[in-house]
Amino acid sequence: MSGFKKYYQKTWNERLQVLEEKHLLNVNEITYLRELVSANSLGDTVIENFITEYSLPEGLGLNYLIDGQEYVIPMVTEEPSVVAASCHGAKIIKAAGGFKTKLVERLMIGQVLLENVVEAEKLIAKLEDYTAQMLKVANDAHPSILKRGGGARWIRLRILDHDLISVDLAVDVKQAMGANMLNTMLEAVANFIQRKFNQDILMSILSNYATSCLATAQCEIPVDKLAKGNISGLQVAKKIAQASRVAQLDVYRAATHNKGIMNGVDAVVLASGNDWRAIEAGIHAYAARDGQYRGLSNWKVEADKLIGEMTLPLPLGFVGGSIGIVPLVKINHKLLQINNAEHLERIVVCVGLAQNLAALNALVTEGIQKGHMHLQMKSLAVTVGAKLTEINMLVNLLEKDKVRDSANAKKLLEQLRK
Ligand code: NDP
Repeated sequence: MSGFKKYYQKTWNERLQVLEEKHLLNVNEITYLRELVSANSLGDTVIENFITEYSLPEGLGLNYLIDGQEYVIPMVTEEPSVVAASCHGAKIIKAAGGFKTKLVERLMIGQVLLENVVEAEKLIAKLEDYTAQMLKVANDAHPSILKRGGGARWIRLRILDHDLISVDLAVDVKQAMGANMLNTMLEAVANFIQRKFNQDILMSILSNYATSCLATAQCEIPVDKLAKGNISGLQVAKKIAQASRVAQLDVYRAATHNKGIMNGVDAVVLASGNDWRAIEAGIHAYAARDGQYRGLSNWKVEADKLIGEMTLPLPLGFVGGSIGIVPLVKINHKLLQINNAEHLERIVVCVGLAQNLAALNALVTEGIQKGHMHLQMKSLAVTVGAKLTEINMLVNLLEKDKVRDSANAKKLLEQLRK
């Protein structure tokens, strides 16, 4: 497709023109893409081959009481029922006194990977003598972080195989996620090792497995607050604890258990302008830290209380990346009433735990579909072409009907329009 040659060098208008010339989109569709781009859009400066803006809904997670303080939490998600479930889970926990959080430390880890190592043990011994020097090399590569009170903290040497060594560097990146500053430091350390030991380097890059940046949320819910219909609170609590046990034992359940947690985590990570792929990768790796992929949260019943706890690696930034670029992120920081990354970590881990409680609570009692259906019906109505004024009427018809698929939704919409 020759029109796509050096596509990134074309202007925005030229790029859209190519789509029309190649008959990939018609004039109306191109106009639609144009209309989605506001005059102050930064898309063209942020990514390559930019054509339009893709937006997602933002809503507020309410009822959050964290370490004695109330929060309204911006959440960005396309999935119906995530925000509603979040509010519901947080409400149960608020009525029980709210969340308590703790942070262990806040260091980012990166790796310099050495290849074609001849005698790994011997090289490790030599490298150990240069630890202090390597830390200095790292700090000299990004001195401004020292002025902020951060900088390289420790080096760990690991033999991965007879010919492969990982030199792990941990850095206090202060308020940033730190990917770029860490990568700069790692490349400097790699250069040093290469020159000093004439050693082959495979690569230098941060690790998303952020085991030195952990946030924990806890809550304790009196079981009587969980009673539902004719199911006692104790029964619900025991079933939630059992569901948590299954997620520890079975990877099929663990993946879904954790997906529910990430529904909340990702929504706040996105709203705060952070890199959700980085957070996803780190959290799933952490879920498999003992060799088996397990549920991230733990729920147990003790002395008439359901006790929940979850620890997540959350190397979130309060500055850097797209955070300073996307104006909505600043507004979301303001809504959250936070001024540092540590605060954001505490909030995100609580949202994950609330989301998990809401999902488990629904699953072990009435099932997930009851709460989901109303919102899913709305999505179905939009999918089959209902206009804004028709959506609620069509949802009502669908809810009365046993068949809730798109063919029936289309039929009902046609009847509605007659
Ligand atoms: P930036 O490259 O934007 O760096 C953040 C910068 O913010 C720092 O270098 C520092 O610059 C400045 N800064 C201002 N105030 C502070 C403060 N209080 N604490 C710390 N820094 C401060 O972002 P990051 O390095 O955080 O990298 C995040 C980006 O990297 C994301 O967009 C991510 O998607 C991307 N990325 C992710 C990777 C991964 O996850 N594997 C790999 C590569 C990139 P100065 O000290 O010079 O003033």
